[in-house]
Amino acid sequence: MSNKQKVLVTGGAGFLGSHLCDRFLDEGFEVIAMDNLITGSLSNIAHLFGRDGFTFVKHDVTNYTFVEGNLDYILHFASPASPIDYLKLPIQTLKVGALGTHKILGLAKEKKARVLIASTSEVYGDPLEHPQTEDYWGNVNPIGFRGVYDEAKRFMEAMTMAYHRYHGVETRIVRIFNTFGPRMRLEDGRALPAFASQAINGEDITVFGDGSQTRSFTYVDDLIEGIYRLLFSEEVNPVNIGNPQEISILDFAKEIIELTGSSSKIAFKDLPKDDPKVRRPDISKAKEVLGWEPQVERRAGLKVTLEYFKEQIHGVPQT
Ligand code: NAD
Ligand code: UDP
Repeated sequence: MSNKQKVLVTGGAGFLGSHLCDRFLDEGFEVIAMDNLITGSLSNIAHLFGRDGFTFVKHDVTNYTFVEGNLDYILHFASPASPIDYLKLPIQTLKVGALGTHKILGLAKEKKARVLIASTSEVYGDPLEHPQTEDYWGNVNPIGFRGVYDEAKRFMEAMTMAYHRYHGVETRIVRIFNTFGPRMRLEDGRALPAFASQAINGEDITVFGDGSQTRSFTYVDDLIEGIYRLLFSEEVNPVNIGNPQEISILDFAKEIIELTGSSSKIAFKDLPKDDPKVRRPDISKAKEVLGWEPQVERRAGLKVTLEYFKEQIHGVPQT
């Protein structure tokens, strides 16, 4: 029997989950990736099959969830994550945030495992405070189309704190701000994959509204480092992990055009309802309790990610 510590990654075949599997295997853990493949893909973890200590389990975590033997850590990342995905999968999004989180907390209690759950800047909704600190309670429309995601994540945080307070489960909550990098799905409708595929294919870049809304984009390696530090910290309350470098969506579209050398033009489309007008993390807490701050500048991360997208579109590495 192996004496390695074991970690379960739900949503392990997704964009972020697959990077977590890589990191924890590299750190010497046994890793179980659990996923029902509703928005993820085995191609994200194909390189891990056959690697010592790695197992994949196809399972929907909204159903009873069990793992044989010891379990030390759980990283709960299962959930549709892009507005297009949760618009298409509203019930599944609510179920995984609520029922799935309940199952995972129950498993953590049974195994005496420490659990870290993936929350989001969306708990702040269309924020009336800027930048957003962890103390801000948010401005969320519960019945709008984003409500299925935002409220599921808010419920998830409430349930996690209840398991911590009532059952003494060791819990951690990360509030993730827009993150990008290789293995994002080209068709997930988020701004970067949409702009990148449009730019690479020479199509119009679809900017919603007048593009004055802002976001703050984090490169995936920085996020994974923040999550790793949070898991092994003593911080129980939520921690923002994100890059505070803020940009308007119009400028972001122009940046993608420039970095791809595309001749695409910008086409303005209607702004989806409840689209947050601003978003930027206050990361004072992450700096203080985790000694964490982003290391990868947006443009540097974009160059790597755009190469990945080109490879996905053309089928071969572009050098
Ligand atoms: P993703 O869609 O690539 O990954 C999510 C994974 O969860 C997919 O592989 C999907 O198949 C799986 N999944 C969904 N429902 C499931 C279920 N019921 N049972 C088992 N597996 C299920 O998305 P992502 O960007 O990697 O996001 C991962 C997590 O991080 C999500 O919880 C998301 O809310 C959170 N998050 C991501 C971002 C971001 O910028 N990427 C920002 C904030 C929060
Ligand atoms: N957006 C856009 N064109 C697109 C996709 C997204 O202008 O083709 C905008 C979207 O309205 C939002 C921003 O880009 O203001 C970021 O969108 P994304 O879906 O990436 O994430 P979220 O809104 O969840 O932050």
